[in-house]
Amino acid sequence: MVEEQIRARGVGDERVIRAMMKLPRHLFVSEGLWHQAYEDHPLPVGSGQTISQPYMVAAMTEALQVEKNHKVLEVGTGSGYQAAVLGLLARAVYTVEVIAELSFGARKLGQRLGFRNIRFRVGDGHEGWPEFMLYDRIMVTAAAETMPYGLVEQLADNGRIVVPIGPAGSQVLTLGVKHGTRLVQRSLMGCVFVPFVRVDKRVKSGGDGY
Ligand code: SAH
Repeated sequence: MVEEQIRARGVGDERVIRAMMKLPRHLFVSEGLWHQAYEDHPLPVGSGQTISQPYMVAAMTEALQVEKNHKVLEVGTGSGYQAAVLGLLARAVYTVEVIAELSFGARKLGQRLGFRNIRFRVGDGHEGWPEFMLYDRIMVTAAAETMPYGLVEQLADNGRIVVPIGPAGSQVLTLGVKHGTRLVQRSLMGCVFVPFVRVDKRVKSGGDGY
């Protein structure tokens, strides 16, 4: 997977590559899909959601330039795979998921794999996780219609955010680099993610912990 799908397409960051070689991706999907877990496409993870194609995980992670001392916010925990990749690279990862059962499943697996630096929260990712801001890096793994400026506010100066932006079915992976009050944006590549859903404010969110 790493050689043919990731390195061959130009992802060369050795820390990202090592993290993805180390992580057993099949554990993040149901047993019936284990035989497909290292193939070149996204896979369902339940509740109508998907775990991204390995190359997309690698490209997004590389674009974020995560360093060992970083605190990272991920929005859209899903299976927890991307959070685990980030967990191998960063000091601390905070990941928010709107579907409780996905968050709980990811948390359980994270514990089983021995991660102690990933925190899981059930809630609307549009709100980020204000308690632990500012974040050095932010990754959104669901498709936003426009740049989620509420999250950019939780990003530290010189921080980087990666987010798929565009309508359902086709987005552009966008990198934003924060310089004071400015966000310099760059388009990286086309992509397809599930929607970053708007959550009814009356629905109560909450819950955190390891
Ligand atoms: N990063 C995941 C894949 C993400 S799929 C992995 O590695 O497996 C996108 C996820 O974003 C889905 O689980 C979906 O439920 C979640 N999502 C969509 N809208 C959201 C919102 N408003 N807040 C938090 N999570 C959201």
